[in-house]
Amino acid sequence: MNYRAPRGTYDILPEDQAYWRFVTEQTRQVCELYGYEQIDVPVFEQTALFERGVGETTDIVEKEMYTFLDRSDESMTLRPEFTAGICRAYAERKLHGRPQPLRLYTIGPAFRYERPQAGRYRQFHQVDVEVLGSQDPAIDLEVMQVAWQIYEAVGIKGLSFQVNSTGCPACRPGYIQTLKSWYEQRLDGICGDCRRRYGQNPLRLLDCKKEACSAMADEAPRIAKSLCNDCDDHFGRLRSYLDALDRPYEVNHRMVRGFDYYTKTVFEVWAEGIGAQNAVCGGGRYDGLIGMVGGPETPAIGFASGIERIILTMKQEGIEPPDTPKPSVFVAYLGAEAKKAAVLLAQELRTAGIRTAALWEDRSLKAQMKQADRLGAGCVLIIGEDEVKDGVVTVRRMADSTQATVPRADVVEAVSGGDAP
Ligand SMILES: [Zn+2]
Ligand SMILES: [Zn+2]
Repeated sequence: MNYRAPRGTYDILPEDQAYWRFVTEQTRQVCELYGYEQIDVPVFEQTALFERGVGETTDIVEKEMYTFLDRSDESMTLRPEFTAGICRAYAERKLHGRPQPLRLYTIGPAFRYERPQAGRYRQFHQVDVEVLGSQDPAIDLEVMQVAWQIYEAVGIKGLSFQVNSTGCPACRPGYIQTLKSWYEQRLDGICGDCRRRYGQNPLRLLDCKKEACSAMADEAPRIAKSLCNDCDDHFGRLRSYLDALDRPYEVNHRMVRGFDYYTKTVFEVWAEGIGAQNAVCGGGRYDGLIGMVGGPETPAIGFASGIERIILTMKQEGIEPPDTPKPSVFVAYLGAEAKKAAVLLAQELRTAGIRTAALWEDRSLKAQMKQADRLGAGCVLIIGEDEVKDGVVTVRRMADSTQATVPRADVVEAVSGGDAP
């Protein structure tokens, strides 16, 4: 039997780890720079949380969730995103009792049964950032800045913001009515999916990618004209902060995002040179969600960014992450007596905090040197029968192939700091 990784999943092999390490470390640094704290929520939750929190008419809940009955016949779902779980934790763990707003971030895998394509997987990984407990548009701006700075920190160029307001429960129903009346005469011109959206989730008519639908959506009435005073003021202040920030942004009236729960601000960060799919992240405000999952009414805003998409963009732009750490030292030996001495030496080196590799397979010196070279070790410490007898170690520097004989008692000192004598 040959087992294979499930479709849409992949292994992050050692040679791919440099990107992962770099992206996640930069993300942590940026989040901490802005005073965000890390939270981790379960990989699976009760199915009802996502049905309620993500929205029953979304593609995610309708077609993409990994849902299963556990052994107690309770319906569970692998998280398709992070926001619902974080809101559940906020309500359940009474995080609203802490000083507000609460600034949180998390990094980890999420799961959606989608058709795999470049940069899109069924087990994918996200950076997720949320601020709970504030409705100030300056917080919207801050969250957008965190996103921007993460991409800047990993070297992605040509960034810009797309921003829109999706209104609130007070003004959105009126806009949806306006939109529906406008589309009523034009149903023949849109795709089958859109005709279904017309009945179920008319806002989604605006972000259909099909050419005819897209052209029509450009002509459709804009939400900006339907916003209530509160939403209009909020969006106006956010735009004034964006103007002051002097970063390229565009009001995109067709951007409504794929979740039902967004209110007021929605945004994306776009990067040049990644073709049609040029959004590297998307997010928005969800002032009603925490109340919907059992917490006190709490305004909140957040975004999620796919790590695979970030890495794909880095590769397309030729951005190389720093190398993962290589062994400083490789310990080679010849003969049983020398092996015992080598085991002790390796232990001593590691205790001193020096990255040390060895083969322990009783291979030829040539084979051991080859392995040291493959691992990228800075130097090789060679112990043979003569070295054991004389109480010394031969130190070979890989960069220039020079060798020196060092007393055994001095060798750890000599190679610490990564520099061979
Ligand atoms: Zn409103
Ligand atoms: Zn369509």
